[in-house]
Formats: sequence, C-alpha cells, structure tokens
Amino acid sequence: QASRNFHPADSTVQLPHSKIGANAFTIMAGPCSVESEDHIRRMAEIARLGGASVLRGGAFKPRTSPYTFQGLGEKGLRYLRKAADENGMDVITEVMDETHVPLVAEYTDVMQIGARNMQNFSLLKAVGKTAIPVALKRGMAASIDDLLNASEYIASNGNTDIILIERGIRTFDHKYTRNTFDVAAVPVLQKLTHYPVIVDPSHAVGFRDLVAPAAYAGTAAGASGIIVEIHDRPEKAVSDGPQALKPDDYLTMAKCIAALRKCM
Ligand code: PEP
Ligand code: MN
Repeated sequence: QASRNFHPADSTVQLPHSKIGANAFTIMAGPCSVESEDHIRRMAEIARLGGASVLRGGAFKPRTSPYTFQGLGEKGLRYLRKAADENGMDVITEVMDETHVPLVAEYTDVMQIGARNMQNFSLLKAVGKTAIPVALKRGMAASIDDLLNASEYIASNGNTDIILIERGIRTFDHKYTRNTFDVAAVPVLQKLTHYPVIVDPSHAVGFRDLVAPAAYAGTAAGASGIIVEIHDRPEKAVSDGPQALKPDDYLTMAKCIAALRKCM
C-alpha cells in the first residue's frame, strides 16, 4: 500500500491544525520529554512562535538505559494536550507499548513510533487498527525497504494515515554525530512511496550546533517538514539536552527554513 505504483499522487495527512504532505511544510517542535505542566506550556508558546503547528513531547520515553528518566506517563499526556490546545496546535507523542495505545489515543493527534520500535510488529498492528495518524521513525539500523515493510503492518490493518521520519542511522563514528543523517533517504522514499516524509534533525545529529544544517539539508532535499527538539535550559533537560535547540536558535532556524522554502 506504500507504493507509488498503486497510488501515484502524494498522500496528505490532515490534522485539526496542520496538513502534512504534498506542498505543505510542517514544523513539529517541542522538548524531548514532557517535563512539567509549566515547562511544556512555555515550550509550546516558543514552538508556535517559530511556526510549528504540531507540539512534540514524550510522556513514555524509550531510554537506552532503564535507570534514566522514563517519562511522566498519563500526567505528561495531559500536560502536553493542554499546552497544545492553549496554543491551537496538534500533538505528536510516542507510544511505546501496544497496551498503551488506547490511552495515548485519547490525548494525541499523531502516534509516534520510535526508532527502537520500528519493527515491533504487535505495536504496529495495534496502531494500524486505530484511526489516528501514525508517524513511523526509521529504525537505527533499518534499510529503506525495512521501513516501508514496517509501514505495511500499519496500513494492512486499515490505517493509511502514515508519515515517515528519517532520523539518522547507526554510525561507526559516534564521536562527532550521534547518527548518520541519511538525507538521500528523503528523495528515495518520495520516489518509492506516496506517504509524506519528514526529517528529525535532532536525533539524526545529536548535537545542537549541527541541528540547523541538517534541518536545512532535509528541507532542501524536499522533506514535508521537520520534527525538532527545543529546550530553554538544555543543560537541565531530563533527556536529549545536548541536541535541544535553545529558543533563539530555533526561531532563527525557522526563519531560514522559510527563506529556503521560498527558493524551492
Ligand atoms: C524521540 O523522538 O525523543 C526519540 C526517542 O526518537 P527516536 O525514536 O528517533 O530515537
Ligand atoms: Mn529525544
């Protein structure tokens, strides 16, 4: 169902406040994790100032170590929803476990499947049975075909509101970048599939000073949008602080993306 051969026109995913795909460019921004009610509200205001129409924030966090912050759970979902509603934004948040799908579905406009769960087939089937759009992240060591096959586990269960996210793949050189940003995946995916493709420059590169260049590259490659992490005090962030853009840098980047889009 992902193939352009059967569905030549670009698909779009319509949310209450955003359209993702075709010629639209959607900014999704917010902290890695929902940290508190007050914090997510402030981050939502900044995200919106930069033109984001979708607020991101994890309430269930897929941390590499079980001993680090795991997320606020339902409380986090509540804060996230409220902050988005107050700012006229949509919500994207990660669902990590199939048993959480009904709960997360109550609060979110887009269910994010994280890189670590790209081939969690029972989770993919569960979100495929809902009517909520799904943003599927490319796994850390997944090929393009692996990603497209994973999308079939969602689509074959009835849900074809799918967004694909390039977020970087495992690299042998972790010293200077967290992952290798596969920018060519954007046009390759667009050739193969009608689903909207967005990029996540934050997880792709892992360091704040590299996020804007990766975002511009993704934009120039034709992505339908970006999902980016922001934080007002990254040194205090409960997760992914080193890659969070500070508000001013985010706002500058958003302006440059808009200028870049004008040339395309
Ligand atoms: C995230 O979006 O915060 C996240 C954990 O991303 P990924 O699944 O791409 O690592
Ligand atoms: Mn993160």
